[in-house]
Amino acid sequence: MSTVAEHVPFLHLCKLCQKISEKKGNEKKLQPLKDFIDYWRNFHNKLHSSNPTTTDSFFPALRLLLPQCERQRAAYGIKEFTLAKLLIDIFCLDKNGVDAKKLINYRSPKTANAEAGDFASVAYFVLKNRSPENGTLKVHDVNFYLDNIASNHAERNKDDLKYDLLYLLRNTSALEQKWLIRIILKDMKLGISENSVLKAFHPDAIDLYNVTNSLEKVCCSLRNPAARLHEIEISLFSPFRPMLAEIALPSQVEGLMKNQPFIIETKYDGERLQLHKDGNSYMYFSRGGHDTTESYGNSPLSGNLTPHIHRAFNPGISKCILDGEIVIYSSKLNCIVSKGENADVQAMQPDGDYGPCFCAFDVLMINGRVLSNLPLTERIKQMKDVFTPIENKIRTTEQITALTNEEVTEELNKAIDNRLEGLVIKDPTSIYKPNMRKKGGWLKVKPEYIDNLMDELDLLIIGGYFGEGRRSNLISHFLLGVASPEKIDAEPTCFYSFCKVGSGYSLKELYELSGKISAHWQAYNPKKPPSCLIIGGGRKEQPDVWIQPSQSQIVQVKAAEINRSKSFATNCTLRFPRVEKIRYDKPWYECMTTTELEELRNLAQGRLATRNLTNEDEEPSPKKQKLQKENKNAMSVAPHFRPTDIRDVQKVSEIFKDKEMCAISSTLDGKQKTEKLIAQHGGKFVQNPGKGTFCIITDKITAKVKNLINTKLYNVVSIDWFHRCLENQVLLPCL
Ligand code: ATP
Repeated sequence: MSTVAEHVPFLHLCKLCQKISEKKGNEKKLQPLKDFIDYWRNFHNKLHSSNPTTTDSFFPALRLLLPQCERQRAAYGIKEFTLAKLLIDIFCLDKNGVDAKKLINYRSPKTANAEAGDFASVAYFVLKNRSPENGTLKVHDVNFYLDNIASNHAERNKDDLKYDLLYLLRNTSALEQKWLIRIILKDMKLGISENSVLKAFHPDAIDLYNVTNSLEKVCCSLRNPAARLHEIEISLFSPFRPMLAEIALPSQVEGLMKNQPFIIETKYDGERLQLHKDGNSYMYFSRGGHDTTESYGNSPLSGNLTPHIHRAFNPGISKCILDGEIVIYSSKLNCIVSKGENADVQAMQPDGDYGPCFCAFDVLMINGRVLSNLPLTERIKQMKDVFTPIENKIRTTEQITALTNEEVTEELNKAIDNRLEGLVIKDPTSIYKPNMRKKGGWLKVKPEYIDNLMDELDLLIIGGYFGEGRRSNLISHFLLGVASPEKIDAEPTCFYSFCKVGSGYSLKELYELSGKISAHWQAYNPKKPPSCLIIGGGRKEQPDVWIQPSQSQIVQVKAAEINRSKSFATNCTLRFPRVEKIRYDKPWYECMTTTELEELRNLAQGRLATRNLTNEDEEPSPKKQKLQKENKNAMSVAPHFRPTDIRDVQKVSEIFKDKEMCAISSTLDGKQKTEKLIAQHGGKFVQNPGKGTFCIITDKITAKVKNLINTKLYNVVSIDWFHRCLENQVLLPCL
């Protein structure tokens, strides 16, 4: 089947480029481009009116308009100087003649006149009288020969490369040659950004290009200018990239939600899963688009999930797509257990203790209608009509509506108490945008995002609380205390309650701990409290059971900060405490003391600088706290942006002497290794490239690296180049 590119003369594209480059102002430059795109689309419609499913697209033209964005074609290996020599050769120019000199010295105003510095313009004037008046090539042909040139370069096939270039030049007019040269040099000098070109093609082209890095995907997916990206990406039995959540602190939520009400959802600790259903046919896809149907079942007769959930779908629902999290449900405990407790959710047998349970939090299609454009509240409402929950097999996420940061903190505390991972906060008006993370309206709030500047504290279990509901026979939460030292070197006899903890340990660890201490639990009677424990606080904090300190265990706890609190005997407590380890190796009497706690509070005041912990009467105003928090954030730099500590690094060579380099790596470990090697071999490294930076070393073309490349200010080299320099013990040219 023929394509538009086989019909459109390359000359048309060159005339367009010429027009764009001559016009002044973005709008004026963009108009001819828009006209050209329309002309292409209309041509396409006419050409393929009989077969609308054709895969033909604007890609052959766009890859020529934006050669710098081209990822599909390998490098041509041709820069100005090489091209000058090739042109001299191909056109048999006298090497000492004026024209050859113009090409070789294209930068010099003396030889190249007004066009100095612009190789393509210099070449245009040199070749004008040597080129055919009219070119014969179509857009398709040019791409075909450029592909050949790139592969000949890769295979070091210089003769064939010359032949293909000769063919292109022999069959193009001078104007076409000028633009051909610009395409080969990947510097179009159009005077408009690549984003403007992409936007002229389709309003979602920039987003899609940023995600896929593929002009071809952009052209194929966005062929229809009226269809928006989020609609296009969602279709039955084909995986889409799920919408993601941005990291946030509880204190940032109000601001990020623009002081409007927001939805707080339970954050399930499982794996992302898409469920696609059409009658009795089911498919499941993981976050990365992998087909996981085999485990969960493609019909009501197979797999460890579909047979259990098929009957949950309401009768009117034939086709649907749900987005959610697959978690592990323990039938013994009658609750969801965390991922760490049973590693492989896909391999679980339905008749065992554990089984998969699908927690749906979004619906993207109902009976063939794509819903991604509806606001979240509307989607959730419609989701409720899709299936009737079955507690241990398929359910909807719990949601509440809130307005303040305080509510977020409160919910996060509850989530931690319930041994959940955190919260997901969603803007009720947000539409579903596949693969969108930033500014999409979804936030994830987890305790570990809160700066862990606190030391680990060794606290003693002094009380316990029964779980709720079906877990009512299991002590799952603990009251922890600190010792009140009376005499130096004597074992403590009195313990103060300090905080309550219910997370950080796995069920296995909890069972193990219970095995060691459960025989020593005694019912707690608030009227007759044990003399060794000072509990403090109200009824809520009083434990159901208590334990003789000498029979108990120390747990190592990490937390975000120490807060004032009247609920515990210490008059303070920990915010977001989590058990890091159960310290079977430490005897009960070596737990933290009230004196140590006091010292830590004083120290924490200095280190955290967020709250006046010692001044019990004067809590800073919320505004001041916010300011202090911001100051604190400014002080702590994420590890990825911190220079690697090279105090122990010994210099072994001078390969990179006087060279300043900047390592950008996809992993923190990779970045640190590269920075150490730079220092070991005599170079200097910086966290952000500047004027004096010799090169940027990277192992992946990320959006950041792409931006740096686009500035054209830096040499961006691959990590392989860096390792080759080390292997050869020389500074190789940056290619
Ligand atoms: P991310 O998925 O954001 O790249 P990650 O894989 O490390 O990061 P987390 O940071 O733990 O995962 O949290 C985000 C994930 O939480 C989501 O991708 C989703 O799989 C899961 N999740 C659990 N509950 C919800 C919910 N109610 N709404 C949206 N996502 C949820």
